[in-house]
Amino acid sequence: MSTCRDCRATIRFVRLESGKSMPVNPMPDETGTVAADWQGRVLVGYVLSKTDPLRPGYRLYRAHRADCSDKPRVPRPASLLDDASPASGHHPAPSPRRTR
Ligand SMILES: [Zn+2]
Repeated sequence: MSTCRDCRATIRFVRLESGKSMPVNPMPDETGTVAADWQGRVLVGYVLSKTDPLRPGYRLYRAHRADCSDKPRVPRPASLLDDASPASGHHPAPSPRRTR
């Protein structure tokens, strides 16, 4: 078991057939899109697709990226970025919004 660097959740890594490791939630979940099977002490699997459905003996796991509570790479909507910018005198009146 491992720990997510971003949200500190417990995760596992699935060794994909491409050789990459994908972080998934530690418990199998039917709603997941990553099929994996224990081979020795390593979870080996693949990402489900139309051409590669669930194979016998594999269980589904959810990719942790979908559930990670800390997503630093998600860009903010432009409106939020504009709101977050400090007052620079461009606006004639100070914003009544609460400031952090
Ligand atoms: Zn996380």
